[in-house]
Amino acid sequence: MTSGTTTRFRRLIFVLTACATTVTTAFMPAAAADTGRPARDLFGEVTLPNQALPHPYGFYAKGCQAGAVAIPTDGPTWQAMRPSRNRRWGQPQMISLIERLSADVAQKDGWPGLLIGDISQPRGGPMKNGHASHQIGLDADIWLTPMPSRTLTRTEREDMPMVSLLQKDKFLTVDPKRWTAAHARLIMRAASYPQVERIFVNPAIKKKLCESWTGDRSDLGKVRPMYGHDSHFHIRIHCPAGATTCKPQAPVTAGDGCDKSLAWWFTKEPWAKPKADPDKPAKPVKPRFTMLSDLPKACTGVLMDQAVSSQAAATFGGANAATTVADVSSENEDDAPAVAPATIDLPGDVPVPLSRPSKP
Ligand SMILES: [Zn+2]
Repeated sequence: MTSGTTTRFRRLIFVLTACATTVTTAFMPAAAADTGRPARDLFGEVTLPNQALPHPYGFYAKGCQAGAVAIPTDGPTWQAMRPSRNRRWGQPQMISLIERLSADVAQKDGWPGLLIGDISQPRGGPMKNGHASHQIGLDADIWLTPMPSRTLTRTEREDMPMVSLLQKDKFLTVDPKRWTAAHARLIMRAASYPQVERIFVNPAIKKKLCESWTGDRSDLGKVRPMYGHDSHFHIRIHCPAGATTCKPQAPVTAGDGCDKSLAWWFTKEPWAKPKADPDKPAKPVKPRFTMLSDLPKACTGVLMDQAVSSQAAATFGGANAATTVADVSSENEDDAPAVAPATIDLPGDVPVPLSRPSKP
C-alpha cells in the first residue's frame, strides 16, 4: 500500500468512526446536552479528547479543538506542571513544537529544559479560570524557571510557586538578580521558529530584550508585550497549513516592536483604573458567559463525540498518536494569567483586564 492509500484508508476509518458517533447518543457526555450552561463548564468537564482527526475550530480566544494529543508529562527535556488541571492537550503541531523547543534550548541555549504550563483542555474551548485564549490547541505557556535536574513529584508540580522576574518595589523592571542571558535565549529561540506567530511576555521583559539582545533581531517583533507574563511566557503558533476551520490572527506589525507601542506600556494609561462615567451611575453588570452557540458550530459535535479510549492512547508519541500525526502531516503536505476576574469570559484575542485598552 502506498502512503497515500494508507492515509486515505485511515481517513475512511475516522469518517466511519465519526458517523457512528453522531448517531450513538449513548456516548454523549451528559454535560454536552445541557446547552444552557456556559461553554467553559461544558468543556471543563470533559476529560478526554474526541476521536477525530486533529482540527482547530475557530479563533484562539473563541473555539475548540478536535483530535487533540497530550504532551507526555515527562520527557528528556521537559516536565509538565499542574497535572490536575488536565491542560496538556494541543494540536500535534503545538505539541511537537514544544518538544523541539525543549531539545533545542537544552542543547544550544544553556537552558536545561522546559517546565510546561497550560496548553489547552482535551477538547479546547473556554476555561473556568486562567485564560481567554488557549482554546484551539495552538497556545502554550512555558515557565520562566529552568527545569530542575531531578524529576519533580506530583505534589511539587501542583504546588511549586511561579517566580516573577520583576522587581517587587519598582515599576515594570526586570530583576537583575533573576534575569539571565539564558532567559533571553529561551524566548528568542521560541520566536525563531517560522510556525510561531506571537510570543507574549511582560512589557518589562520585552524592554529588556530590546535593550540587550545582540543576536538576530528579525524575530523580536513577534515578542509582544502583555499584562502578566512575568513568570511564564506564552507561545502561539499559526493556524496549521490547510486548516481552513482555524481563524488566523492579524499579523504582527513589521519591525522589532521596540518602539512607541512598547513605550505606551510604560505610561500610566494601561494601568489606570477605568474612569467612572458621571452620566451613567455604576450598575452591577451581569457577566455574559460564552455559550456553546457562540462558538463555531463544529464545537458542539466536538463536545458530543465519542472520547478516545484513554489519555495514554492520545499521548503524543503513543501508538495511536503516531497515526494521527502521520495523517496530519500528509494531509497538509507540506493566552495569560488570570489578570481578569476569573468568573468572566473576556472577548478579544488576548487576555486583557476589563475596561482596559487592548492596543497590542
Ligand atoms: Zn498563555
